[in-house]
Amino acid sequence: MGRIAFHPASFLRSFWIPIWFRFGVIAFFATMSGFILGERWGYVTAILGLSLLIGFHLYYLKRVNSWLINSSLDESPPELPTGFGAWETVFFELRRARKRDQRRSAEVEETLNRFIEASSALPDGIIILDLADRIEWCNPSACTHFGLDLARDRGFLIANLVRQPAFTEYLVRADFSEPLHIPDPSSTLSLTVQFLPFQQNRRIILSRDVTRFMRVEAMRRDFIANVSHELRTPLTVVGGFLEQMVDQPDISNQQRARIHALMLDQSQRMQRLIEDLITLSRLESQSAPSMEESISARILVSQLLDEAGALSAGRHIIESHIDQSLTFLGAGEELRSAFGNLLSNAVRYTPAGGRISVALSASDAGAVFSVTDSGPGIAPEHLPRLTERFYRVDKSRSRETGGTGLGLAIVKHILARHGGRLDIESTVGKGSTFKALLPAARVARAALAA
Ligand code: ADP
Repeated sequence: MGRIAFHPASFLRSFWIPIWFRFGVIAFFATMSGFILGERWGYVTAILGLSLLIGFHLYYLKRVNSWLINSSLDESPPELPTGFGAWETVFFELRRARKRDQRRSAEVEETLNRFIEASSALPDGIIILDLADRIEWCNPSACTHFGLDLARDRGFLIANLVRQPAFTEYLVRADFSEPLHIPDPSSTLSLTVQFLPFQQNRRIILSRDVTRFMRVEAMRRDFIANVSHELRTPLTVVGGFLEQMVDQPDISNQQRARIHALMLDQSQRMQRLIEDLITLSRLESQSAPSMEESISARILVSQLLDEAGALSAGRHIIESHIDQSLTFLGAGEELRSAFGNLLSNAVRYTPAGGRISVALSASDAGAVFSVTDSGPGIAPEHLPRLTERFYRVDKSRSRETGGTGLGLAIVKHILARHGGRLDIESTVGKGSTFKALLPAARVARAALAA
């Protein structure tokens, strides 16, 4: 425990000396007038002197009183009057106490402002409720999450402002051991809400936007369901054939050869699917391809045209307009796979006799590799979804021609990794153009690259 130090000298100097001095003066004049004018005048002088002293103290007491009243009414308190004698000390101490209070309240205000700023920057919502569950304060994220406006809604019951049935039920149940999840079927804003006890009977509501997480979760579930479905179909076919061969051991050689061919076809389909899945997961886990590797567009496109010619087997007219001087800076195998996918799609979806045109050109903005076909075209509502995994416009045509439904998803990933993108234009009944755009940083002229 701290000890209170007593310094008689400073104590006397600061407060008591002027008081004793005034009493001394009154006593001196009273005694003098008593001696000179008689005892009665001595008393009169003493009474007069004491009355003056009391008047003097009452005057300053009144000033302190009005200052205190004004200070409590006014936001910016008036200046303290200067005192005289013992009042000088009183005013000095009051002034010091006021400065200390001002400094402390400035510190508290600064801390509060910092807290408000920090909580405004939080992505999570915070609502502070009073004892009756009325809103006392909330940060901007909470306003967005629950559609609140602090200036308008402060002091209103939270139950009257947040009307989601799940939230109301959660409030009524009053079991806050588990957080509440408020899903949004339209995937605009899904929330997780947690009530935390605060002080004695008050509560804080924390809210978190989990829309992105929910979307990713839904995509993960869809993806697993799709992969299982895609694998189950060929496996069922192969299993069925094997059962047939066990049940009927003496089928003809011709029939056996046909079954073998069909089983081989299905196992190849599974293999393609697994390979595409591995490619996708590799593309997702690897960092952006380096700029060190350079691939000649002339060699790359001529190989792709050869492969397309083999796949078409003379059923299409394939023409090309290639800027032979271009070189790509990036992962050669990935670009070959992306461009090859666009070309093989054109061959697979364009009926025999159709025309396929391949072009490669460059401008200041970068390079464009485009494949235009005279195939069936794609209706506009499908275009934004074509690069989704397993999205197919024509399922049977895709399967017939060995498609996995992952080709354009792979193309999109590869182009994005190179800083590019895929553009699709299509008219039903006329054909489609798939454009792979690469940024200028990924393209060089052969002469410059040499
Ligand atoms: P798939 O392996 O089924 O071809 P993709 O991801 O490569 O999968 O393509 C997705 C879907 O886009 C295809 O199923 C097909 O319906 C459509 N598609 C792609 N390229 C073309 C094209 N050139 N012409 C018409 N439809 C196309």
